Amino acid sequence: MIPAAFDYVAPTTVDEALAALAEGGDEAKVLAGGQSLLPILRMRLNAPETVVDLGRIEELRGIREDGDAVVIGAMTPYSEVVKDPTVRLHAALLAQAVEEVADPQIRHRGTVGGALVHADPAGDVGAPVLALDAELVIRGPGGERTVEAADFFRDLFETAVGEGELLTAIRIPKHTGWVSHYEKFVRVSHQWSIVAVAAALRVEGGTIAEARVGLTNMGSTPLRARSVEAALVGRSASDLGDACDSAADGTNPPSDLNGDADYRRHLARVLTRRAVATALGS
Ligand SMILES: Cc1cc2nc3c(=O)[nH]c(=O)nc-3n(C[C@H](O)[C@H](O)[C@H](O)COP(=O)(O)OP(=O)(O)OC[C@H]3O[C@@H](n4cnc5c(N)ncnc54)[C@H](O)[C@@H]3O)c2cc1C
Repeated sequence: MIPAAFDYVAPTTVDEALAALAEGGDEAKVLAGGQSLLPILRMRLNAPETVVDLGRIEELRGIREDGDAVVIGAMTPYSEVVKDPTVRLHAALLAQAVEEVADPQIRHRGTVGGALVHADPAGDVGAPVLALDAELVIRGPGGERTVEAADFFRDLFETAVGEGELLTAIRIPKHTGWVSHYEKFVRVSHQWSIVAVAAALRVEGGTIAEARVGLTNMGSTPLRARSVEAALVGRSASDLGDACDSAADGTNPPSDLNGDADYRRHLARVLTRRAVATALGS
């Protein structure tokens, strides 16, 4: 289908974009890579009067180091994140998860910021961002604020980014030297996650000193498997024991044609063990 007619604005600065959003009010919609928004417009599930395209705003794009953090501009496409040496060195888990997003065409257009604000619980970016304790930088008419990933995802397709605001950057604390793996379960390649697990581990002398585990599609938002994280400390590749068995505790997974909630709980336990074992190289 063809989208309903809308006014198109293509600002070149964040201030101009915020002004356009303020002018458009709740009839304005932000366009990033368009990989989620354009299908929505074409199906006429949304018919904004104004579309504010962020594609020409250079300040929203790129990856840089800032002290003990890696800062990724919200409009940085997946394809740049995957191949970026800074991300690979200090936040490898994110690169590993982004590699699993859809296909090369979608990774070429889709952006990390767009995925986070879209907040599809089956999306692959939320769990690693949550597991890596990232901070999300948001700008609006009232200025700039920073929200921890744990407070960013509010509900299904709902985040801390309010009307008239923009997500401008993602700040990820450096996890240099950590081992990690993103284990995604799908029926056919290039599919959305039925369940996926993001695991990052700091290993000292052969045992796990710190663990971070994020779950994809085990509830209305990405989730942390905190009890697994605690249980993994002190374990080693040859002695994981039952440390991953509580992966589904406190989750509320959906039931759909791909599997019911119990099946997803089973997957969460199996995939967590697999993600941890693979990260440890076993
Ligand atoms: C066939 C297909 C398969 C896919 N498979 C996967 C998959 O396996 N895994 C996966 O994770 N994703 C998948 N996706 C989704 C893809 O990752 C999207 O690119 C992503 O969800 C949205 O990013 P975008 O840059 O395209 O954002 P857009 O579609 O442009 O925007 C998405 C939403 O976020 C808002 N928005 C965007 N940027 C900002 C910002 N900076 N500030 C405020 N609001 C903003 C928009 O207004 C819109 O509501 C798939 C998409 C398609 C079409």
